[in-house]
Amino acid sequence: MTTKFLLPESELPTHWYNVVADLPAPPPPPLGPDGKPVGLEALAAIFPPALIEQEVSAERWIAIPEEIREIYRLWRPSPLHRAHRLEQALQTPARIYYKNESVSPAGSHKPNTSIPQAWYNRQAGIRRLTTETGAGQWGCSLALAGQLLGLEVRVYMVRVSYEQKPYRRSLMQTWGAEVFASPTKLTNAGRQVLEKHPDTPGSLGIAISEAVEEAAGRADTNYALGSVLNHVMHHQTIIGQEAKKQMALAGDYPDVVFGCCGGGSNFAGIAFPFYADKAAGKAVRLVAVEPSSCPTLTRGVYAYDYGDATGLTPLLKMHTLGHDFVPPGIHAGGLRYHGAAPLVSQLVDAGLVEALAIPQLETFEAGVLFARTEGIVPAPESTHAIAATIREAKACAKTGRPQVLLVNLSGHGHFDMSSYDRYFAGSLQNYDYPAEAIAESLQHLPKVG
Ligand SMILES: *Cc1c(COP(=O)(O)O)cnc(C)c1O
Repeated sequence: MTTKFLLPESELPTHWYNVVADLPAPPPPPLGPDGKPVGLEALAAIFPPALIEQEVSAERWIAIPEEIREIYRLWRPSPLHRAHRLEQALQTPARIYYKNESVSPAGSHKPNTSIPQAWYNRQAGIRRLTTETGAGQWGCSLALAGQLLGLEVRVYMVRVSYEQKPYRRSLMQTWGAEVFASPTKLTNAGRQVLEKHPDTPGSLGIAISEAVEEAAGRADTNYALGSVLNHVMHHQTIIGQEAKKQMALAGDYPDVVFGCCGGGSNFAGIAFPFYADKAAGKAVRLVAVEPSSCPTLTRGVYAYDYGDATGLTPLLKMHTLGHDFVPPGIHAGGLRYHGAAPLVSQLVDAGLVEALAIPQLETFEAGVLFARTEGIVPAPESTHAIAATIREAKACAKTGRPQVLLVNLSGHGHFDMSSYDRYFAGSLQNYDYPAEAIAESLQHLPKVG
């Protein structure tokens, strides 16, 4: 009975897959404040030319530069596991596989894109990168990339997280990044907020504004984003490409592929290479799983909206709860973004990708069962995809159908044990975002066309 399906380093993918080549229609373009498609020069102030090219490319394959593949080899190809013990606990005839992205140095899938983003910026002569981070996973991944590629990294970390997640901050500093609690006095955006609300806990929206302002104002500095944008989705497809080869080693092919969805990058990473098969006629279900308390794909609308809270970014056509949506404080499981990647959103809208929202207690219950059977403590984000897989496996136990289920374990939860503590203490509860609050926030969508 094989438990892990491993690929040799020589099987590391040579290209990223660009799903745009196989979409039923061209993706709607990002729009500027005037409602016209944004010119590429608007992006050039904060992104390097090669990433802008990838952002708008329709080429099916994008070659991965050799130096990036060398760095990927520090932890890739990542293992594919057969979850024998979880199957046994569930008494299911389903065969459950999980792709283990928790083995990267930062503990998640995010370095799959932080490494190429840093590399292309260095290639363009950039010396410094800025970014924002909430819980700290993206900041850590970019800090790692900056360290390995010789770029300075400055992270604006949402103040409450800075105070509540000290070890993520230590990790970023260990990898040589400068970390500031946002809002800071270093930027206009930060100073403006602090004048009015000196005690603000900060927010991702404010931290993005600070990071973008600094990058736009310095020629040697660019900005990096960890999810949502097309080039990020492309970089993550190494996950699904490896998984396809590993499923073949196992002699199986998935009936259903699950990934959790915040901005959409780890879901796209595992699912898009299988979507290529689906577009070619193969039967495979692709399921993006989100929290009931931040139900972007299941209860948001597919419309043009800002990528950030304050309206600095171009307008993206995506599923959104409204850019001023604020997830409830009770929500402990990450995946808090108000929007979702335009590429994932387009596929959900076309009915080619399914979306599912799961309540908080079920996700932690799934995470604990996974930890107690498979051993790995999943990141609270990943538990959403695991919970959906468990639901499907239980359905198989009822029907007796031996379905093949593949789930992306996007990361481990070693820095998120305070959320597990809250679950064990019984202080978490389920929370469906109220329909009136969603309707209210959707009224503030920008008017387009
Ligand atoms: C950041 C993160 C996510 C959510 O981001 P996506 O872009 O939706 O993948 C999910 N899981 C883990 C472990 C993360 O760090």
